[in-house]
Amino acid sequence: MHEPDFTLSAGPTMSSPRVQQAQGRPMIFDYDPVFQERFRETERMVGELMRTEKDVVLMQGEAVLGIEAAARGVVRPGMKCLNLVSGVYAKWFGDWLRSYEAEVVELEVPYDEALDPAQVREELERHSDFELVALVHSETPSGIENPLAEIGPLAKGAGALVFADVVSAVGGTDVRIDEWGVDICVGGPQKCLAGPPGMSLVVVGEDAWAAIEANPNAPRASFLSLLDWRETWIAGGRVKFPYTPSVSDVHGVHAALGECLDDGLDAVIARHAGAARACREGAKAMGLELWPRSEEYAANCVTAIRCPEGAEVKATLEHVRERYGVMLSGGYGELTEKLFRVGHMGPGSRSLYPLVAVSALGRGLADLGVEVDLGAGANATLGVLAESREGVAA
Ligand SMILES: *Cc1c(COP(=O)(O)O)cnc(C)c1O
Repeated sequence: MHEPDFTLSAGPTMSSPRVQQAQGRPMIFDYDPVFQERFRETERMVGELMRTEKDVVLMQGEAVLGIEAAARGVVRPGMKCLNLVSGVYAKWFGDWLRSYEAEVVELEVPYDEALDPAQVREELERHSDFELVALVHSETPSGIENPLAEIGPLAKGAGALVFADVVSAVGGTDVRIDEWGVDICVGGPQKCLAGPPGMSLVVVGEDAWAAIEANPNAPRASFLSLLDWRETWIAGGRVKFPYTPSVSDVHGVHAALGECLDDGLDAVIARHAGAARACREGAKAMGLELWPRSEEYAANCVTAIRCPEGAEVKATLEHVRERYGVMLSGGYGELTEKLFRVGHMGPGSRSLYPLVAVSALGRGLADLGVEVDLGAGANATLGVLAESREGVAA
């Protein structure tokens, strides 16, 4: 089989020529001044993208490393945690919390809905002694965005530490760590930022550091240790790494973040929002049903579409990939067979990629006998793209 012509999946997603070139740079020594300055600059750019002055720690492994490191660092046995669940990733986070023997209360909503700040407020009032509140900003598996802007300050105001998974939010939607009272969060370079998978963009504030320091179970002398990064890299003046970073991935992530900031963060977010709206309108006009119950909380990173009756997710995706060279995604975890996801992240949010995504899914379903209105779908997608791109340089 050939490489795909279009990767419009739920991430990793297509990378730009600038990122590809950066990753092809010669390998250099991690103590070379050029590399060290590039590393420090990457940290500063993460701070800018997440609008935070807190410490940035670039852990050298895909975002799950950062999420596990954050959880292991902060959570001690008996710690009372409120885990807010609206999807697969948050559910997994709860499993981690329980495995570290935290006392976990879970507030769960159906996976086609977003978290409701009023419900969160009630839960915070009912208990009043939560030490940690955890949530996922953008639930990629169900294409739903949670109101972190409202829940973050509520939880912080109630005296809890706030953990947020912003892996697929950063670069695609507003992420304001300091304004929203988030203490510790993890972003991913391989979603809306369209960098290589392989790094965790972790932000740690003073309150989170204090909790980690006070936790006898926080990893030390470990690949999972945030404290190692603090003591070796940050406290030492950012000249000594706890271990060798993934040099090529650092080059790639540096380029991806630089591209986003050069385009302008607000413009990049607007582009993702426009691409998402184009896909939603296209899917609906075609006769398909969106997965989120309300478009108010549909995510900017992927559009989740219910699998129509008579269709099968796996067979449709394979068909689209084989016949048209387009890689889309299905559901994930318990949602695997329930929905399709078309990604519109990074380069996939540009140009006419949303039309490719919507048409590939629609044509694929039609080939397999599902009735869809391809013309109406294409028209609606293009209509939104035309409108959202007006006055915006390509
Ligand atoms: C992609 C993603 C992660 C990282 O998980 P992988 O499945 O290893 O890519 C974590 N959280 C969210 C919300 C994500 O979208």
